[in-house]
Amino acid sequence: MIGWGERTREVLQALAADADHGVSMVLGIDAVRQEEDPPDWVLRLPRYRLCEPHEVPTGFRSGWWYEIPLIDMPVYLGYLERRLRRAGGTIEKSHRVEALGDVSGSGRVTVNCTGIGARTLVPDDSLRAVQGLLVVVDQPEPRIEHFFQDDADEGDLLYILPHRDVVVLGGCALPGDVEIGDDAAAAIMARCFEVEPRLRGQRVVAIRHGVRPKRKTARVERDEVDGHPLVHNYGHGGSGVTVSWGCAEEALGLVRAALAEVDALI
Ligand SMILES: Cc1cc2nc3c(=O)[nH]c(=O)nc-3n(C[C@H](O)[C@H](O)[C@H](O)COP(=O)(O)OP(=O)(O)OC[C@H]3O[C@@H](n4cnc5c(N)ncnc54)[C@H](O)[C@@H]3O)c2cc1C
Repeated sequence: MIGWGERTREVLQALAADADHGVSMVLGIDAVRQEEDPPDWVLRLPRYRLCEPHEVPTGFRSGWWYEIPLIDMPVYLGYLERRLRRAGGTIEKSHRVEALGDVSGSGRVTVNCTGIGARTLVPDDSLRAVQGLLVVVDQPEPRIEHFFQDDADEGDLLYILPHRDVVVLGGCALPGDVEIGDDAAAAIMARCFEVEPRLRGQRVVAIRHGVRPKRKTARVERDEVDGHPLVHNYGHGGSGVTVSWGCAEEALGLVRAALAEVDALI
């Protein structure tokens, strides 16, 4: 996924030049609780450096600074929607698709980006749902300017993502069939308060629940349904935004190749 991620970072970095896009370049820390070297991918990122011991919160052994594009999702999705409409696209939210064959005749190529929905639509048993929860709170005074992430990627996650007016606190990664308890949001806040006491007592603006469509590797692939060309782009787990532009460009290449084949047959 590194190639997809690098391409996505390039695009997001360019989008960060205009605040209306909802993308900002933000400096922050990934920290680890056991002695560990930073992963290779982080060494190439802008403003990378190892943390000084006093920069790492209590309970963590080491960490590293780097800059990433941070996305305010409601603003970004609004921008993507405007961009799609400007390009002549339309959005229809009217119904649930029960089988890929039901829509394959409506265009020359069908692109399947249904996330966890692909588990039943394709069907693809290797996809599994990983639930997550986010708590959105008001920005405190003085403001939080840097992101913070615990580098762990299973179970009780810990990340603090500052935006202009709010701070997004995370998180968790739980199997799809587990009921998320009433205390899950409070537990996320407690973990984040330990690292960033300025967050204590801030107003909770929203609690967001979502599902990550986890697969061994994302599927960006040409297929066929009822004799019509089909392009899959699903299974990005907890990195769907991080690899989005890279995957979309690869899927676009597959769509163009399929269109050329269809045109050659006419
Ligand atoms: C709490 C949380 C935090 C996350 N944090 C990050 C992060 O920091 N960085 C990152 O890169 N990623 C993150 N992710 C992961 C990211 O959100 C996903 O990888 C991404 O949303 C997947 O995009 P997608 O378009 O493939 O699927 P989705 O966003 O799930 O979209 C699929 C769409 O298809 C529709 N659909 C499905 N089935 C059908 C059907 N049968 N008929 C009609 N429509 C259908 C759905 O309604 C939905 O609109 C996070 C996820 C969660 C839950």
